[in-house]
Amino acid sequence: MIPFSEFSETVKKLGYDLVGVPPNDAFDKLAPAENPLNIYPDAKSIVVVGRRIRRGIFRSMEEGSLWAATHRWITSMDNLVRWIEKQGHECVPYSPGDPPNMPRHVISADAKVRPNGFKIPIEYAAIAAGLGELGYHGIFMSPQFGIRQQLGLLATDLEIEPGPGWPKDSKPICDMCGECAKACPLNAYATDQTALFNCNGREMTVAAINAKACQACPNGASGDAGYVLGSEELHREVVNNQFKGDKANQFMGGRLPNRLMAACGRACIAHFEKTHDTGYKIPFRIREPWGYRPDQEQEG
Ligand code: SF4
Ligand code: SF4
Repeated sequence: MIPFSEFSETVKKLGYDLVGVPPNDAFDKLAPAENPLNIYPDAKSIVVVGRRIRRGIFRSMEEGSLWAATHRWITSMDNLVRWIEKQGHECVPYSPGDPPNMPRHVISADAKVRPNGFKIPIEYAAIAAGLGELGYHGIFMSPQFGIRQQLGLLATDLEIEPGPGWPKDSKPICDMCGECAKACPLNAYATDQTALFNCNGREMTVAAINAKACQACPNGASGDAGYVLGSEELHREVVNNQFKGDKANQFMGGRLPNRLMAACGRACIAHFEKTHDTGYKIPFRIREPWGYRPDQEQEG
C-alpha cells in the first residue's frame, strides 16, 4: 500500500491543488449507482483531486464585464492516469455524463448499474476524504479556496492509504453568515427549511433551495458542458435527446445547476475572502453586486 503522504506529494507535483483518498467504507451505505467503487470492479482505492479555479474568471463576472462559465468537474486527469499506469496499475476517471442511445439496462451478470447510469456524488467523496465540506448553499467548500475549485474522481486498483482526513477539532468552513441567501435576487432559499447532510459521520446544515428558480437564474448559473453534465443535473434523465422529467437523488436536493458563478456563489467568495487570508491584493468585491430576476427587463 502506498502511503498517503507519498501519493499526495506526487499528485501535487502533477499540478493538482487538492488530493484525497476516502476510506472505501465511506461508500458502504450508498446506492450502487452512487458508489464510485462500482465504476471499476477491480478498484482498491478512490482518488479525488481538486484544482483551484482562477479568480479572474469570477472577478469579470462580479464586475459584469465578461460573462463566462466555469465547469465544476475535472474529467480527464490524463497526467495522473498515465502516472498510475506507469506504476503497473489501471484506473478509470469518472466523467459525469449520460449520453443518449446507451443501453438503458444492466448489460452483464456482474454489473450493478446500467452503462453510464452512475450518479457519483464527487463532493461526497471529497468530504469523506477530508478535503472540505458542503456550505449552507450546498456547494463544496475547501479550507484553501472556499467554493473556488473543480473536482475530479477516479477509481484505481493501486492500493493507497486513505487521507488526509478531516481533523476532529477543525472549525466548519461555512460560518452560516447567510450572505449566499441574501444575495439571491430570486429568493430561492427557503427561510424556514434546512436539511442535514451526513457524510461518513460528519453533519452539515444545507439550505433548502428552489432548484427551478436556479434553472431560470440570470445571475451566473449555468449548466456544465453538453453531455458532460454535472452530477446534480444528472438527476434529469436524457432519453432520445430529451429530458424525461426530473429525478432527484439524496444529494443536495438534485436538479440544481452549476452555481459557482451565480450571485449566491460570488457572495460566498466575497465573504470567504473577508474572513480568510487568500493573499490577493485587490478585494474580490469592490462595489455593490448586481442581480436580476428573470422577469426584469435586462436590455438597455
Ligand atoms: S455565504 Fe456564508 S452561509 Fe453561505 S455558504 Fe458561504 S459561508 Fe456559508
Ligand atoms: S443560482 Fe441564482 S436563483 Fe439559485 S440561489 Fe443562486 S442566485 Fe439564487
